[in-house]
Amino acid sequence: IKKIAVFTSGGDSPGMNAAIRSVVRTCAYLKVECVGIYRGYEGMVEGDFKPMDARSVNNIINKGGTILKSARSDSFRTPEGRKQAYDNLVANNIDAFVVIGGDGSFTGAMIFNKEYDFPVIGIPGTIDNDIFGTTYTLGFDTALNTVVDAIDKIRDTASSHNRLFFVEVMGRDVGHIALNAGVGAGAEEILIPEENLGLERLLESLKRSKKSGKSSSIVIVAEGDKTGKNVFELKEYVEENLPIYDVRVSVLGHMQRGGTPSCFDRVLASRMGVRAVEALLEGKSNLMVGIQDNKLILTPIEQAIKGHTKIDKELIRVSDIMST
Ligand code: ATP
Repeated sequence: IKKIAVFTSGGDSPGMNAAIRSVVRTCAYLKVECVGIYRGYEGMVEGDFKPMDARSVNNIINKGGTILKSARSDSFRTPEGRKQAYDNLVANNIDAFVVIGGDGSFTGAMIFNKEYDFPVIGIPGTIDNDIFGTTYTLGFDTALNTVVDAIDKIRDTASSHNRLFFVEVMGRDVGHIALNAGVGAGAEEILIPEENLGLERLLESLKRSKKSGKSSSIVIVAEGDKTGKNVFELKEYVEENLPIYDVRVSVLGHMQRGGTPSCFDRVLASRMGVRAVEALLEGKSNLMVGIQDNKLILTPIEQAIKGHTKIDKELIRVSDIMST
């Protein structure tokens, strides 16, 4: 393998730049040529490539987002689009690629690898932490810090006015952000897609909390929580059924995806980038780099996209105890 391409795909996450930097610098160190592809698979189909050397990635380790941009590509979902992408890679003498993205991006890589026997390695970049084969995805730790910081601020105003806040955080299918940030920020209740707390229990818990003398309450709600109600409907529900509370809603939204990556994400990205390039040079392919017990491991992409990482039941118990 003499030339490796790197790109970011799907939703962006903090730490993607640190991962690009790591792939580019590892290539430079090992004397392998490196090419950046702009806008993920869309740029691959359109031939939007740029040679990268160690200096092209100066001063990006601390930046959120991705300097290579990200996109969703419909054309790559078609055999014709993938043929065009393959022709562009061959025309540029590219022998392998490293894709930094989520499960959709890995599905694309796996299909491409099957069709063209093209060497691919994935690095999990998504704030949702929903990929099997790694305890942490790039951006998850930064997103947690962002969410905890936001909730701390909301708590200041909540307690000044004795209010109840429903705070919506990202997580359509998984509750990792909600559960971890909820425990970290001392939320009274955490509603996640994996568990149905039930509206009755929520009311009971809020009633108890008020009786016990708490001046404010924060309930974290993952986007895909199981109550069947969104944050605004939850507000209405509580106002109708528990009029003792002055209720407000805060939807954190895309701010969770941005910002300066945490040291944890930068270190993780640097380690994963090195391993991804090394794996390709060892002749490995169709694998994702992950971390488990602080060791880098390689998991077949097929497995990585099939399973979600399970929610930590122990953390649910801790959260229950803490909200006493
Ligand atoms: P996020 O976790 O933020 O959703 P993601 O990587 O899962 O990130 P997707 O939009 O699902 O984001 O996928 C990114 C791109 O991967 C798609 O726009 C498409 O180009 C490619 N892709 C996804 N699924 C397939 C597929 N079945 N076949 C070919 N390409 C695919």
